[in-house]
Amino acid sequence: MNVLVLNCGSSSAKFAVLDAATGEEHLSGNAQRLNSNEATLDWKHGGQKHSRPLPGADHGVALRAALEQMSAAGLTASLAGVGHRVVHGGSRFSASTRVTPDVLKGIEACIPLGPLHNPPNLEGIRVAQELLPSLPQVAVFDTAFHQTMPARAYTYPVPLEWLAQHEVRRYGFHGTSHRYVAGRAQALLGVNPDQGALLIAHLGNGCSATAVLNGQSVDTTMGLTPLEGLVMGTRSGSVDPALVGHVARASGQTADQVLDALNKKSGLLGLSGLSNDMRTLEAAAAEGHERARLALEVFCFVLARQLAGLVVSLGRLDALVFTGGIGENSTLVREAVLGHLGFLGLALDPVANLKAVRGQGGRITSSTTPQALVVPTNEELMIAIDTAQLVSTS
Ligand code: AMP
Repeated sequence: MNVLVLNCGSSSAKFAVLDAATGEEHLSGNAQRLNSNEATLDWKHGGQKHSRPLPGADHGVALRAALEQMSAAGLTASLAGVGHRVVHGGSRFSASTRVTPDVLKGIEACIPLGPLHNPPNLEGIRVAQELLPSLPQVAVFDTAFHQTMPARAYTYPVPLEWLAQHEVRRYGFHGTSHRYVAGRAQALLGVNPDQGALLIAHLGNGCSATAVLNGQSVDTTMGLTPLEGLVMGTRSGSVDPALVGHVARASGQTADQVLDALNKKSGLLGLSGLSNDMRTLEAAAAEGHERARLALEVFCFVLARQLAGLVVSLGRLDALVFTGGIGENSTLVREAVLGHLGFLGLALDPVANLKAVRGQGGRITSSTTPQALVVPTNEELMIAIDTAQLVSTS
């Protein structure tokens, strides 16, 4: 069953037509720099890459242009539904759902929690409804998988009234990736979907780790927003919240300006002063760049420290699973993290570690209980699978 998967950001729209049963990707692409004169549409079909300028295009124009390519490839008629990535579902959505007027209102109500992401996600749904009115639309939330966290894991130790008044609690993100990777890891371990004590480390430009016990998220490192937790490409992860006021006062900035720096100028970029890209930093560190070396060291240490903390939520550990661009490719990060976590019984297999790159997964420890695995993520496929399931059952 073919599904169109859409992921709309503020100035971009990623799209892919996938077979939900086989995972085969028929066509995929990305419209970038929308609402500017430099807007472009890039797409891949039949092993060929194409690009065309779309000056001034908004999401509507870009999706119309993308649909033209899908029609030219003979794919539009085969679509059974459209699956949308929606970042914040708050406490309202604990699973993927068919889009109805009430669901649209629910996503709108979550805008204060996801002010940067939910509006373009909603725009994508509206445009798809307009352009493909006969197709069912499905919303797949980044937060939904984490709705199974117990109160002790999602409650901030702040005045409890803030929960009711401002919806202040930990939500967690990357849920679609964590759920997909947990399922693949269970299959590799030969356990049922309701078994296993797993740590999933999703390490891309954004990074988060999740404790998955018996198939359910029981703890995760991201919180109210994707700023909490691990060191990321440009995000600081967890810091003392008092530093916001301190730096604001000391530098004459507003709290919002400092928060912006914690989101966009911190993490690997802020530490290294060089780049948010792990490949660049690994190369620079190898050539003796001190700040790149420090950035790598802090990244791996904070990651290991938070992973060890998440084991408390599991009570035991069957497998630590690496995914995302860094998790799937950086042999160096995996080696450093497993070095820190040796006390859990994880023993690196250096040869297997070097082999697990560029989409090649598998076990990278000589230890089997617990073990460490590399599992390539596929959020688009997870969205397509959810969409196909909801479309055929409702
Ligand atoms: P993602 O957001 O999942 O696409 O991941 C992006 C991150 O993965 C960037 O920091 C890349 O530098 C990193 N990455 C991709 N390939 C490699 C590699 N071969 N070695 C180290 N890091 C990599």
